[in-house]
Amino acid sequence: MHDRTLALLADDLAARRVSAVELTEHFLQRIEQFDAQLNAFVTVTRDEALAQAAVADKRLAAGNATPLTGIPIAHKDIFCTQGVKTSCGSKILDNFISPYDATVVSRLRDAGAVMLGKTNMDEFAMGSSSETSFYGAVRNPWDHELVPGGSSGGSAAAVAARMVCGATGTDTGGSIRQPASLSGITGFKPTYGRVSRYGMVAFASSLDQAGTLTRTAEDAALMMQVMAGFDERDSTALTDPVPAFSSALETPWQTITIGVPENFFDDGLDEGSAQAIRDALRVFERLGATIKDVHLEHVHLSVPVYYVVASAEASSNLSRFDGVRYGHRAENIDNLTELYMRTRGEGFGAEVKRRILTGTYVLSAGYYDAYYLQAQKVRQLISDDFARAFADVDFLMGPTTPTPAFGIGQKMDDPIQMYLNDIYTIGANLAGLPALSVPCGFSGGLPVGLQLIGAHLSEPALLKVAHYFQLETDWHTRVPAAYA
Ligand code: GLN
Repeated sequence: MHDRTLALLADDLAARRVSAVELTEHFLQRIEQFDAQLNAFVTVTRDEALAQAAVADKRLAAGNATPLTGIPIAHKDIFCTQGVKTSCGSKILDNFISPYDATVVSRLRDAGAVMLGKTNMDEFAMGSSSETSFYGAVRNPWDHELVPGGSSGGSAAAVAARMVCGATGTDTGGSIRQPASLSGITGFKPTYGRVSRYGMVAFASSLDQAGTLTRTAEDAALMMQVMAGFDERDSTALTDPVPAFSSALETPWQTITIGVPENFFDDGLDEGSAQAIRDALRVFERLGATIKDVHLEHVHLSVPVYYVVASAEASSNLSRFDGVRYGHRAENIDNLTELYMRTRGEGFGAEVKRRILTGTYVLSAGYYDAYYLQAQKVRQLISDDFARAFADVDFLMGPTTPTPAFGIGQKMDDPIQMYLNDIYTIGANLAGLPALSVPCGFSGGLPVGLQLIGAHLSEPALLKVAHYFQLETDWHTRVPAAYA
């Protein structure tokens, strides 16, 4: 059963070839069998899942099911789930049972999707390797000595090892696309504001966006249909109507122009990955696409700009964890200052502290203009570069990451090396653009991801182009041998 995509399993459920309870039991059994090796889950919600599956079966029998009714999924542990621990990979939230559901969670639940559990992640989504979690590193199903990417690495590993059909993730600087690329699956980050951030633990509010980790673009479309749409509880949620993503995939191929940012093919790009990307572009040429070189003038400044803006927002967002209202609280405290200092000192890991310190520094009176304001100006220039490019081409394509998966521990002592993993993904976040990563080959036996970036709100077209690529290729069907 687990070799079938979400879309195929939806057909099986609708035709009653399998029941939601059978499907849920099957995937729960795989989690039991494999998760000790991968550490992809922080929490497995077995009893709730079986209860939800039973409800889904009733709904399927009554004929009022949606395509997601009875489909086993998992949520990144950054989404609040009522009555279930929501840790965000941090000790400071290790004891936090959310009293409410994130909008993403309630929408998927209302559609009948069955939550099997919450997935492991970099602490507060800060990282590119899923190693900074309080619950330990997640392992890559293709090679347990390697990272699955991050910060949505638990979701990526769970989908790649076929422990769930699809999972949610969040992408602030690449955290859906980068782990999708390193784990050999499809990762989709919509336009900023397309999916509500309500109930999603905030990292950098002007960049955070929820999306999907699935095997195919077709599966992403099915999940997006439910997740997307205005939400009055998120003031940045877009009011634009939600298009029919899945029907868009079925529309005939049209001629497209693809821009290839030549600055994405820099010295840092692994040769095997570059070759896989070039081969992927040839597939589009065969489909009749025109390929053009484009130059994004300021995109090389993405990483420094991002680490100023994201850290500034993080330092503000994370000030709410003070030991007073919820989460971890230090013991044997004499006064309020000590409560704050010890709670935060004990509760946050090293990377989170580094971001809070950097963010507080760039926002401080003496440095605000030099760093924060300057970064905001360059952010606008980067956005303008993309807007200019999209006046000329329909999509931008290139590598998702500079290299395939790297070793556990390899970059933990060198934050700059870690930050550079997102050099090709961060631009789309700074500009709020939709982007996805699809498997497009292998380098040294490890999966390589092709990144596709579209103009604002171009999700239907973007998913369609990715879908046509997956009709022409079979990279997305490859599965690590141990998890076949
Ligand atoms: N790796 C980037 C960071 O550490 C992006 C993380 C993300 O997208 N959540 O900030």
